[in-house]
Amino acid sequence: MYPNWILQRAYLTPLRKALAYKNQSWTFQELNELSIKRARQLVGIGIQQGDRIAIMGPSKPELVMMMYACMHLQCEMVMLNRRLSPEELAYQLEDSEAVTVLIADEDIEKLPPETAHYLFSSIENGGEGELTIEKEWPLDQTTTIMYTSGTTGFPKGVRQTVGNHQASATASVLNIGLQPQDVWLCAVPLFHISGFSILVRSLLYGNQVYLYDQFDAEAISQNIIDGEVTHMSVVAVTLERILHTLEQRNMKASPHFKLMLAGGGPVPVDYLARAHSLNLAVAQTYGMTETSSQTATLASEDAMQKIGSAGKPLFFNQIKIADPNDKGEGEICIRGPHVTPGYIGRFAHKNATIDGWLHTGDIGCLDEDGYLYVIDRRADLIISGGENIYPAEIENVLLTHPAVKEAGVCGVDDEQWGQVPIAFLVLNEPVSVEQLQAFCLQKLAKYKMPKEIIFTDSLPRNGADKLLRRKLLQ
Ligand code: ATP
Ligand code: MG
Repeated sequence: MYPNWILQRAYLTPLRKALAYKNQSWTFQELNELSIKRARQLVGIGIQQGDRIAIMGPSKPELVMMMYACMHLQCEMVMLNRRLSPEELAYQLEDSEAVTVLIADEDIEKLPPETAHYLFSSIENGGEGELTIEKEWPLDQTTTIMYTSGTTGFPKGVRQTVGNHQASATASVLNIGLQPQDVWLCAVPLFHISGFSILVRSLLYGNQVYLYDQFDAEAISQNIIDGEVTHMSVVAVTLERILHTLEQRNMKASPHFKLMLAGGGPVPVDYLARAHSLNLAVAQTYGMTETSSQTATLASEDAMQKIGSAGKPLFFNQIKIADPNDKGEGEICIRGPHVTPGYIGRFAHKNATIDGWLHTGDIGCLDEDGYLYVIDRRADLIISGGENIYPAEIENVLLTHPAVKEAGVCGVDDEQWGQVPIAFLVLNEPVSVEQLQAFCLQKLAKYKMPKEIIFTDSLPRNGADKLLRRKLLQ
């Protein structure tokens, strides 16, 4: 058994700042008291200890309070992504068999019609029921159920236990380090593991979270320039917007700012170099919903020698490459206490691990020093004339061209070669196909050259903003 994180943190450092949002802030004691009250109100509407319930709302303090209330109640929280369509939500609600949805008032329109729900406001204004808060939690209790992004197919409902989250937070701090005054800026969604893990780390470490309900490049860049925050989680797209803002304003990151944790997908090498010249330390991390956040992270001191690597595994876990080819490239497999015990719903029968190893569906390799390079998704591999071509490599090259804003590459059938790569581009400024081809020829082997380059207004992305290569051709 392990301590109830919220009670334990409020006991250890009650007066430390826990959460800031706009010009409001809360201490750990205040968060604890408010979330206990909210938990009693949940009992008031009939929610029982251990129920599986869905939650949806923007990343605002009310949502944090509601999540902590559910945690006090030891509920299994199905984290709904508010960017999904009603049909996608309906699928997750049906698949998860959540008893009800707790929903922020402003999101009610997004819910499929006739879904059982309670508005945050009705809970916040409702009566309180009787509740004895458990002081300890079992390690195998499911804290959250998060659906994968659905990049390769149907989203899968992943269980993340108390033990998974604790192992992840502990491994993270052993790598990144900690000081009491550290403040983690959270502008990634709380319903994803990237955001929720910031809350878990805050509870375990006693650090403050500086919460944004949406990505505001200007305000966030200012926080980084002023040194009001020390850490931030980003994905490639948001990192680029911060780099762009700092470059335009000709400003650098404050020396108080320590680290950008960049995950969710590959970060173009070009961004890392730009960040370096803005004094912005970027740690590339590799993780997935099934690993409750980071599995491998590149320590900032290694960033420039191992450009493009996702680093080494965090302390408690191991990484191996299954069935490597002659270049050492194969499927990345992961073992450790942060790996999910399994899926729910239609994927409940699917074993998450084989002999303890999670098979990620990602292709990667380890260099001679044991650094992980994530190459691409196995499902997106293009095989052309017997050669493996990774779309990410071509996209990365295209993205280093100043005129290219976004790039997506996929394979099309070809009589001669089996498959050939083609590229879809969103531009910053006009450029010709010939110029881009000449540019690619300098950097890519001939067989990797996109056979066609198509300009478009936007690329297909999912609710997590990830490129859907399988939809590029549709
Ligand atoms: P689904 O499993 O439904 O297809 P998904 O895999 O995109 O969706 P997530 O769990 O949100 O769902 O994303 C994890 C995936 O993101 C990893 O398996 C990997 O493909 C990609 N990823 C994460 N970090 C990195 C990284 N540093 N470099 C490259 N790819 C990464
Ligand atoms: Mg996946």
